[in-house]
Amino acid sequence: MNHRQSTWMLLAGCLALLGLSIACSVNPVTGKRELMLISTEQEVSMGLQAGPQFEAQFDGPVPDEGLQRYVSEIGMKLVANCDRKDLPYEFKCVRSAIPNAFALPGGKVFVTAGLIACMSNERQLAAVLGHEIGHVNARHNVKGMQRQMGSELFGKMVAQMASGQEADKAEKAKGAAQFVAGMVTMKYGRDDEYQADSLGIKYMARSGWNPQGMVELLEVLLAMHDKEPSSLEEMFQTHPLTSKRVAEAKETVAKDFPQAKAGEADPNVKTFDQMKAKAIQHATKL
Ligand SMILES: [Zn+2]
Repeated sequence: MNHRQSTWMLLAGCLALLGLSIACSVNPVTGKRELMLISTEQEVSMGLQAGPQFEAQFDGPVPDEGLQRYVSEIGMKLVANCDRKDLPYEFKCVRSAIPNAFALPGGKVFVTAGLIACMSNERQLAAVLGHEIGHVNARHNVKGMQRQMGSELFGKMVAQMASGQEADKAEKAKGAAQFVAGMVTMKYGRDDEYQADSLGIKYMARSGWNPQGMVELLEVLLAMHDKEPSSLEEMFQTHPLTSKRVAEAKETVAKDFPQAKAGEADPNVKTFDQMKAKAIQHATKL
């Protein structure tokens, strides 16, 4: 065994102690092989365990079945056209009035009532959900958490959350709490944002929405932020948005979907407006 091999063995041994599986897997988006510290199964289990706490952090789901069904149907249509279909996706609108959207590892996606309130048509909602599915598909959220927490702390947290014993309930809850806190303050890198936009654009177009919705939404949010930076501080913290990001999205649409017209009328705008009114009605006060 040479030095390099023994280093690898040592690393694998340490990770095994932490309850992590080391695997070289193919990134479903890029097709490149990469080192994944957690398995898809662990990823799903993290999302499932953290889901309820995460939901509560954003004031719980909007109590309106019609709105939840609407958001879920748009999300699942996009999923049918994404690169990683084997996850238990779930889409929910939460009551927080602060504009934001999140994707937990494993496919739980949340959009706040406050973000829906900023939109003017259905394709903009499809753009947000498509962008979040993009983060899940390229595993940005798992990698981002690992980067933010450091491999050691991340490893401990995954081990806590994945422990199978009933007696480990307190440890599991501790892991989930750490995870939620980390997720809320996690910042995606700019390259992750460009890639999530570009994936969202692709999934939108494949599902029948005009991908110009992505450009429209980014322009609206950037203009809002220029006018009143504090209103979008949290969203910009997680998903950095610059004029370069808007320009990149514009270029992707123009290059890949030249037939997509800007400013096209939304055939479902009536339904969208009804759903938006429900989101605003149930949003918690700022
Ligand atoms: Zn993002």
